[in-house]
Amino acid sequence: MNLAAQILSLADQCVKCGICLPYCPTYTAQHNEVESPRGRIALCQALACGLAPVDSSILQHLDSCLQCRSCEQACPSGVAYHHLYTRTYQWLRTTRGKTHRSWLSQTLLRPRLLAVMNMVLWCYQRSGLAYLLRVSQILAALGLAQREAWLPRLRLWPLPVARSAQATARGRIAVFTGCVGRYFEREAIEATASIATRAGYQVDFLPQQRCCGALAHHQGEVATSLALARANIQLFSRYDYDAILFLSSGCAMQLRHYADLDWQTPADKAAAQGFVNKLHETCDWIERHTEPSTQTTHNTRVVIHAPCSHRNVIGNTQAVEKLLRRITGITLEKLPAQGCCGGAGDYVVRNPILAAQVREPLLDAVVALQPQFLVTTNLGCCLSLAAGLRDQRQNITVLHPLTFYAQALTTPSPLGSRPG
Ligand code: SF4
Ligand code: SF4
Repeated sequence: MNLAAQILSLADQCVKCGICLPYCPTYTAQHNEVESPRGRIALCQALACGLAPVDSSILQHLDSCLQCRSCEQACPSGVAYHHLYTRTYQWLRTTRGKTHRSWLSQTLLRPRLLAVMNMVLWCYQRSGLAYLLRVSQILAALGLAQREAWLPRLRLWPLPVARSAQATARGRIAVFTGCVGRYFEREAIEATASIATRAGYQVDFLPQQRCCGALAHHQGEVATSLALARANIQLFSRYDYDAILFLSSGCAMQLRHYADLDWQTPADKAAAQGFVNKLHETCDWIERHTEPSTQTTHNTRVVIHAPCSHRNVIGNTQAVEKLLRRITGITLEKLPAQGCCGGAGDYVVRNPILAAQVREPLLDAVVALQPQFLVTTNLGCCLSLAAGLRDQRQNITVLHPLTFYAQALTTPSPLGSRPG
């Protein structure tokens, strides 16, 4: 079946009932049919039939989809929206030469460039230039304030290749850090390593690992996403790991999907399945493979945010709560709002205004609860929510649950906490 026929067949599953509309963050932010799942499905249909021109006014409504997949969870007809979306971009690329790639999505494919960028941004942050540009409003005048606010505090030194077990050896695991994870998610990676090594595991970081390929996949760049998946599968399969842990549920959406990519041979597919079988969400794995420390008491209020990717694709969001319940004394709550943080991949670079708009209801829900800590398992959510809360001058620390857990094990009152 050619791509246009595949798009039409997938779109035909939609009965246009509209049940998904209130679950779509871009629709609830804009109340515009073309910013809804139903509207986007109709646009894909119209493009593939040749009833709509391939022009920017139409493509911008497809580009503004966050790929959160909340619509799939709500849909009673089981419409495979993400397949339809990816196939449409594949069709736009191959037949019309259109793409919605950003400079950021291209940078993620170049590990050396990323290392240089980390160094440059580290100098920018530590030299005082960042502070100067912010207070002088130069960043705002250049329209860069919103994007710059997302940057976490960077570290100059690279991750080591591995950390050795500190107790009787129980096995060897690897952490999937992908492309920016090793720079932007350093605290959570170190936290995972410190807990796992104390439990007797050697932890490898494999510096040659590549981007998960999620952005390329969503942009219909099938060959690129396949090449990235192949590189990661070959690299990790050189070692007989007990587990491959992922910290960011956004990357894991793609990693879990590796076996379903368009592999040409059964051997490639089997290797991809072998990789997927070893993947584990870090909180869940740590909870099952390490002993609870019964003495840990922590008098703080913590709110758990479940990212769209964790909720809608990875599942088992309860693992985070189960792990944190080991710490006595904390008040643990789940964020009642199930919205999106707007932190989807390179979305803030392509669409900073809508990203901030989509995030508003979630920020309101966090501020209403006034926790000391907000924990979330996706890097994009962590950066987006932290930027939004800083902007509102809220003294709420946003971090990965593993970072919080590791801090609670080692310090009675971690950095950033306020008296309970
Ligand atoms: S994936 Fe998310 S943003 Fe895109 S149409 Fe579905 S619910 Fe809306
Ligand atoms: S995607 Fe599903 S829920 Fe949404 S309009 Fe189509 S059939 Fe209804």
